[in-house]
Amino acid sequence: MIFKDVIRKKRDGIALARDEINYFVRGLADSSLPTEQVSALAMAVYFQSMDFHECGALTLAMANSGERLSWEGLHDQGPVIDKHSTGGVGDKVSFLLAPIAAACGCFVPMISGRGLGHTGGTLDKLDAVPGYRSMPQVDEFRKVVSEVGCAIIGQTDMLAPADRRLYAIRDVTATVESVPLITASILSKKIAAGLGGLVMDVKTGSGAFMQSMDDARTLARSIIGVAAAAGLPTHALITDMSQAVGWNVGNALEITESIAFLTGQPREPRLMEVVLDLVAEMLVMGKLVGTHDQARQRALAALESGAAADRFARMVAALGGPNDLLERPEHYLPRTSLVAAVYPVIPGYVARVDARAIGNVLVELGGGRKVAGQTLDLAVGLSDVAGIGAQVGEDRPLALVHARSPEQASAARDALRAAMQVSDQPVEAPPMVYETLRGCEHVP
Ligand code: URA
Repeated sequence: MIFKDVIRKKRDGIALARDEINYFVRGLADSSLPTEQVSALAMAVYFQSMDFHECGALTLAMANSGERLSWEGLHDQGPVIDKHSTGGVGDKVSFLLAPIAAACGCFVPMISGRGLGHTGGTLDKLDAVPGYRSMPQVDEFRKVVSEVGCAIIGQTDMLAPADRRLYAIRDVTATVESVPLITASILSKKIAAGLGGLVMDVKTGSGAFMQSMDDARTLARSIIGVAAAAGLPTHALITDMSQAVGWNVGNALEITESIAFLTGQPREPRLMEVVLDLVAEMLVMGKLVGTHDQARQRALAALESGAAADRFARMVAALGGPNDLLERPEHYLPRTSLVAAVYPVIPGYVARVDARAIGNVLVELGGGRKVAGQTLDLAVGLSDVAGIGAQVGEDRPLALVHARSPEQASAARDALRAAMQVSDQPVEAPPMVYETLRGCEHVP
């Protein structure tokens, strides 16, 4: 096959055949296709999109490009369900949801990714925990999931390697925001992970890849449809990304906020809302409880009793992290010596936030990637970020900047002031969860 003809075909808006997609995926996985041809096809797909059949073929080919896990034996003990987000800013939901769901009886084998574009990556955040093995062998992953109930790890070379390469190339070629590419990327990993069910957190708003509600619904329907065709029951919550999720943005800073959340310190209410709703969807999907309200109660009880914190601590220790991370996070997580408050130019209420720009503040500080393979500064970021509706002024900054130098801090200050509009009139915060879309209901 002459691959430039395949690129030309897609460039001209013609649907690709299954064998052409399979050829592309083989070339991705064994690196026989050069990066420039992969980038060109990704850009052609970005502009011309893919129909349902092409997207399904791409998903399955990428899922089959490596090993496929099976959880035989575990499915009898509880539902094997995961959650995946389409990507956001300050999104630390996974660190909270996985242990809560595990404490409620789910098995959560969570395979997460690195940062993409302006969004943070769960795997980068885990790098802030010293000793944590985010790339364990499959047997170790299996053991931790069976014994602890959850394990959050990275995409090893064995799992959907074709997606791994495509993901890294999309990250630096402005080809992330494509419904079929996001669908195939997420589902290839989830199908390869052998799940019984999936709950999607599809983000919408200024910090999401799908900024409008219509685009978020299109993505949610695409994921639900392709997943159903592949036999993976999937529900999707469309949630707000018009501002950062929670108070902190930055790798170690998000782990700090997650530990505080799990151990009963003050919780950002919107973060609490989205975590409980997503866990509830998992519990209902897994038939552990009958109704959404009962499921939320069960999730809340697991959080308040400390059962979820215990699961998180066991997961960290089982994967090589410190045994006392929850007791002494400040001893282990990297921090900057410079922390500067950024005050608004005029006092008032936060009215609008450009969440993508907030994500880019982190990238500029060195906490996110500009080029593939860049080593991150895990300590930098933002804390105490004011949400939409918050009153800000000389007593309440827009955020605290954790930077390495005064120059970095002042650049971040200017960018933050531009990203956060302040009004003299009170403003209401948008809802956190907009709607839920459900695919087929049965989870084996
Ligand atoms: N998460 C993924 O795994 N892939 C994407 O393309 C976007 C979000």
